[in-house]
Amino acid sequence: MSKFWSPIVASLHPYVAGEQPVIANLVKLNTNENPWGPSPRVVEAIKDAATDDLRLYPDPSAKKLRETIAAYHGVSPDEVFVGNGSDEVLAFIFAGLLKHEKPLLYPDITYSFYPTYSRFFDVKTTTVPLDDNFQIRLEDYEGECGAIILPNPNAPTGIGLPLADIKKLVSSHADQVVAIDEAYIDFGGETAVPLVRDHDNLIVIRTFSKSRSLAGMRVGYAIAQRPLIDALERLKDSFNSYPLDRLAQVAAVASIEDVVWFMDHRQKLIDNRQRLEQALRERGFDILPSQANFIFARKPGWTGKDLSLALRERAILVRHFDKPRISDFLRISIGTEEQCQALISALDQVLASA
Ligand code: PMP
Repeated sequence: MSKFWSPIVASLHPYVAGEQPVIANLVKLNTNENPWGPSPRVVEAIKDAATDDLRLYPDPSAKKLRETIAAYHGVSPDEVFVGNGSDEVLAFIFAGLLKHEKPLLYPDITYSFYPTYSRFFDVKTTTVPLDDNFQIRLEDYEGECGAIILPNPNAPTGIGLPLADIKKLVSSHADQVVAIDEAYIDFGGETAVPLVRDHDNLIVIRTFSKSRSLAGMRVGYAIAQRPLIDALERLKDSFNSYPLDRLAQVAAVASIEDVVWFMDHRQKLIDNRQRLEQALRERGFDILPSQANFIFARKPGWTGKDLSLALRERAILVRHFDKPRISDFLRISIGTEEQCQALISALDQVLASA
């Protein structure tokens, strides 16, 4: 607290990011980053763009990138909005599209930035409990609301909704914006982007941070029909005209262009997830069915906190949330085969010594 703060600062509840400690030989499975570096073509593109041109501002409309994303998804470039990570895109969506007199609905267990943005932008909200199996139940979203936001797959559970369910939700709320946050969709889910053509209330949010290994470049985007995209552009141009720097723009274009890298690495990740699930099941863990690049698992008899601390002592970092209903769970990002093996060896030591 300081007398220099404006009243809003004291009232905020900032998001707490997973830690990024510098520890030798750390196996870092706590922030859902991709365990492999990006396509070599991305690194080349960044090197090629690191020239004297950096003295110039970047293209404020990120035209080439929006065209590339649009071609990839089969939409028009003016149906694409890009931002500094999908967190920034989400911030504009909360401020511009989800704030209404009636409450915004989202699950009680979900991406913890949603309550943070709601508070920041003073959005009225109602949280909708997941069922006993940590699933989203569509019937629970039928009450009156101003808008809806869901991650698909949900975080931190990893559980996805089929496209038919998203279609039902979007159709039954034709007068409300429905935002689907597809940060993890590439690891096994079904994207809702094709529904945008027929549904003017749908906005789909995506990121380059997970399946494209570019968390460090901060690139996210949204796809929707023009009126929703216009709202986001008005907000962006009232806040920061250049959210994506020159390097981020060329990196993201090169990433989309390298289809082979993308397909290979996505499959490797899914294979590692299946192997890790199997190994954890053999050790008595309960695991929620994941379509993401992480799994949410608990070991009966252990709290998430104790197990994550025991792993930390062995230089393995995973995430746990001290929150009602999920405090027994660990959220484990899928690593390389070596990292998954290190996790399993450390777990075997921890469980044997208990
Ligand atoms: N949505 C969800 C559900 C997430 O888990 C994350 C990652 N923390 C994001 C959005 C934001 O990702 P980024 O800002 O890196 O694009």
